[in-house]
Amino acid sequence: MEDISRPLLDWYRRHARPLPWRENVTPYRVWVSEIMLQQTRIEAARGYFERFMAAFPDVEALAAADADTVMKLWEGLGYYSRARNLHACAKRIAAEYGGQFPSAAEELRRLPGIGDYTAGAIASIAFGQKAPAVDGNVVRVLTRLERCGDNPLDEKLKARYRSELAEIYPEEACGEFTSALMELGETVCTPGTPDCAGCPIASLCAAHAAGEESAYPVMPAKKPRRREDRRVLLMICGDTAAVRKRPDKGLLAGLWEFPNDLEREAPAGGCPCGEAVHVFTHVEWHMTGYVLNVSEPLPGYTWVTRAERLALAMPSAFRYYMGVLEEMGL
Ligand code: SF4
Repeated sequence: MEDISRPLLDWYRRHARPLPWRENVTPYRVWVSEIMLQQTRIEAARGYFERFMAAFPDVEALAAADADTVMKLWEGLGYYSRARNLHACAKRIAAEYGGQFPSAAEELRRLPGIGDYTAGAIASIAFGQKAPAVDGNVVRVLTRLERCGDNPLDEKLKARYRSELAEIYPEEACGEFTSALMELGETVCTPGTPDCAGCPIASLCAAHAAGEESAYPVMPAKKPRRREDRRVLLMICGDTAAVRKRPDKGLLAGLWEFPNDLEREAPAGGCPCGEAVHVFTHVEWHMTGYVLNVSEPLPGYTWVTRAERLALAMPSAFRYYMGVLEEMGL
């Protein structure tokens, strides 16, 4: 791999965006931000990060929090296993490491929810180590740079990039180099049509020389998403509505939801209240909602007032139906 470190660092020092986690850099702040930024856009993560830091200013505060409070602060960010792992990891660091993050990437990787990428990001940005952090953004830059047609999701390709990058990490600016590569992928070498005119490594880029920037990375064919038709029941009893907690494992584990199932039939006495679609990574929910008034709270559910419901962590999949209840004043 060409040594891209110099031009990239010079560019980064002039163009780095001011982001909350780039101020007051600590392992804890780098870790939380990196977990949030997996599958979440920077602008969406920014507010969550600030609220999270206000509630849990350090790893010990997060370790001591109860799970529902953590999930509530994560509500709307999606991929909730990230929040559960974050909490589990904080507890381990508090209990086993005296509240101090280990500095070596290999040791960080043994903690819950920390993979190669996050371990590299923490070790390089917070501890100044030569520990590359290779995510989809970085793979995009590097496959374009060398016009590499390998599957960008292949772990072997990421491992090769980690070892080649480790060779060119600038000793005195490891954290900046990690951030610079990420920044280039997020702001210049973007998916679709990159801004090669503003790229500090354009003269070294093989895809650019060939005029084939958009052809890389070469993505494998996607499996089609599964469709599920779901019936959502807004059961109302007086000023309360029925909710239930999802199982501890699987999709949206541990979050609260309105009762729903795979039945196609309208429930007896149910009044249709609209359709909504929510797209997850592997499945799409096509939901049809019904309002059902009941005279007694049925067993098997938790019956909550509006205020109690608003305090629960409910996934955005049910946002439309929360709006239906709001309109009914519930
Ligand atoms: S020249 Fe274009 S394709 Fe190549 S790394 Fe820069 S932005 Fe990406």
